[in-house]
Amino acid sequence: MNAYDNALRQLEKAANLINLDKEVLARLSSPEKVVMASLPIRMDDGSLKIFQAYRVQYNSARGPYKGGIRFHPQVDLDEVKALGFWMTIKCAVVGIPMGGGKGGVIVDPKALSLGETERLSRAWIRAFREIIGPEKDIPAPDVYTTPQIMAWMADEFSKLVGKPSLGVVTGKPIEYGGSLGRGTATATGGFYVLEQAVAKLGWKKDKLKVAIQGFGNAGAIMAKLLYDAGYKVVALADSRAIIHNEHGLDVDSVAQYKEETKSLGGFKGSKEISREEFFALDVDILIPAALENQITKDNAGSIKAKLVVELANGPTTPEADEIMYKNNITLVPDVLANAGGVTVSYFEWLQNISNNYWSEEEVDKELKERMIPSFEAIWQMSIDKKTALRTAAFMVALDRIAQASKVRG
Ligand code: NAD
Repeated sequence: MNAYDNALRQLEKAANLINLDKEVLARLSSPEKVVMASLPIRMDDGSLKIFQAYRVQYNSARGPYKGGIRFHPQVDLDEVKALGFWMTIKCAVVGIPMGGGKGGVIVDPKALSLGETERLSRAWIRAFREIIGPEKDIPAPDVYTTPQIMAWMADEFSKLVGKPSLGVVTGKPIEYGGSLGRGTATATGGFYVLEQAVAKLGWKKDKLKVAIQGFGNAGAIMAKLLYDAGYKVVALADSRAIIHNEHGLDVDSVAQYKEETKSLGGFKGSKEISREEFFALDVDILIPAALENQITKDNAGSIKAKLVVELANGPTTPEADEIMYKNNITLVPDVLANAGGVTVSYFEWLQNISNNYWSEEEVDKELKERMIPSFEAIWQMSIDKKTALRTAAFMVALDRIAQASKVRG
């Protein structure tokens, strides 16, 4: 299961349906630029370690490249290419005038001290300084990269260029050019589209049971939003454990427990279940919010949820997509469901380059005004073209990218 193969299959499927211009398809079938670097880092014990790092600048038809940096042991070039491609589609889905890119480092961030993490983050910026910048390519956080890491990165870049350059990365802390609402934006945007989908399906939300895989920035905040809104969160998963309580978990207590113990495992009043059991749970809504390739042909058939909202990037393989579509499962795709993150990243960048900062209410209002119409347009397209929401989202995005490519020549 190669994430990039999956991404290209998604592209091909939607491209065929809209008869996408062959030249645009060719351009979108490979990244514009791939840069690799070896980052030598002095470890706390005095030894030197080399870390492999990437930046993929996938497509800039609609504007500067935009996309996060992932620190994870399983990062590989094809994964970064897939993520860069999805960023291209995502920005077009929500109408952000930016292209797509992604970065990564092959590293186990949990094994690094704070000092080592800082040196690695600054080294990443030094390695890619020529190709990034507020008007060129604007990275952001992704799995296991944090606002603190973004602050080190913006600081390093500002030193290199000899002037404050806050717009070089987004997802920064509020004290250093961050936007109010950025930390919660991915989940909040996902929550808005989830509620739209629930309304379209004619469901009453107070009875709905939810299972969420991933308890980080995306998953934990989504869990809290749903819990506060009256949904019943019955299962939660992190990299170490999957916990379940059919009567509902107290998400605030779970978050506190995870903070203290660093794991969900052993949370009082829950029982641990297997991955297979998790995907087959008797729930209404399933939210993958961890990594790629989680819903595959092997478990898609067992899914009982009738609504899947992809907060993670690329959690579903194309085979699993087909199975769920046949089983009448409504799937809100990643390129729409998690686009709240890049949307508020764009707002952060706008605030940085204009040096004019917005209130939390303004950010939330603007986020809502992008997410809900984007959902409506894609929902309508899926009805008109009798296709899944993912393909509909790709159709909307590809059309916008094709128009930009065409006028640019
Ligand atoms: P994060 O580092 O904050 O959290 C990741 C979570 O996933 C952690 O709880 C971790 O324990 C869990 N996890 C890792 N491996 C797992 C496994 N095998 N099974 C179950 N859980 C596992 O990362 P995040 O920012 O929440 O990102 C999660 C997903 O959301 C990624 O696919 C990311 O690309 C996507 N995403 C995030 C943002 C954002 O703004 N943070 C925006 C768009 C998309």
